[in-house]
Amino acid sequence: MLGWSINLFRIRGIQLSVHFSFVLLLVYIGYDGWQDGGTSGLVWGVVTLLAFFTCVVLHELGHCFTGMRFGVGVRRILLMPIGGMAEFDSIPRQPSREILMTLAGPAVNFLIAAVLAAVVSFPPGWADDLAGLPNTPEELARLLLVANLIMGVFNLAPVFPMDGGRILRAGLATRLPYVRATFWAATVGKVLAVAAAGASLYYDLYLRAALFLFIFVAGELEYRTVQRRERDEAKWREALARLYRAPPAEEPPLLRP
Ligand SMILES: [Zn+2]
Repeated sequence: MLGWSINLFRIRGIQLSVHFSFVLLLVYIGYDGWQDGGTSGLVWGVVTLLAFFTCVVLHELGHCFTGMRFGVGVRRILLMPIGGMAEFDSIPRQPSREILMTLAGPAVNFLIAAVLAAVVSFPPGWADDLAGLPNTPEELARLLLVANLIMGVFNLAPVFPMDGGRILRAGLATRLPYVRATFWAATVGKVLAVAAAGASLYYDLYLRAALFLFIFVAGELEYRTVQRRERDEAKWREALARLYRAPPAEEPPLLRP
């Protein structure tokens, strides 16, 4: 399923891809806008979705560019209807670096919100703009302002593997072994994800409940990956130690030119 994606273009070597379902979402939003307001409704629907996901990409680029400064390789950014996902070769083990790399994402959202807040006013009835699709650039800017604030705050919730959960893991890793820190961060995240999914079901928000269940599974999968990598590394360390302890069985063969 995750393989069904379309490569768009590269930003400083990072491949930007969109998942096939994202294209379906774009078509759906366009169709919905067209039914509501004809051609202009269609255009505003598509523009709003693209603007929103541009902010998602900028958030991910915040993580990527900070990671690249620490020598982390970034394979690609994948856009899905539920958000963006950057794929890294590795994640820095130094807690301070992981925290900086993680904070950079929400920081981008707060920066965008601050810039938009300087351009558009925040009138008392601003929440009304969120009910439907915007019809003017000002309404779009206000929608993006609120969306970026929500994106920044939501990502900082301590639900591993979301940004807040990664910061919690990095904090725990200053006192605990890395795998234990990941275990506890994932456990806190799973409890919160189940609670949030339950609350969403109670309010009949099925899509949101599915999103929290997805986060639950993602947390468990990443914990297992960390656990497996740690086991493999321990095996290698042990094998190397054995190799260096053992005296050579025989003289190394002479190399003849
Ligand atoms: Zn993030």
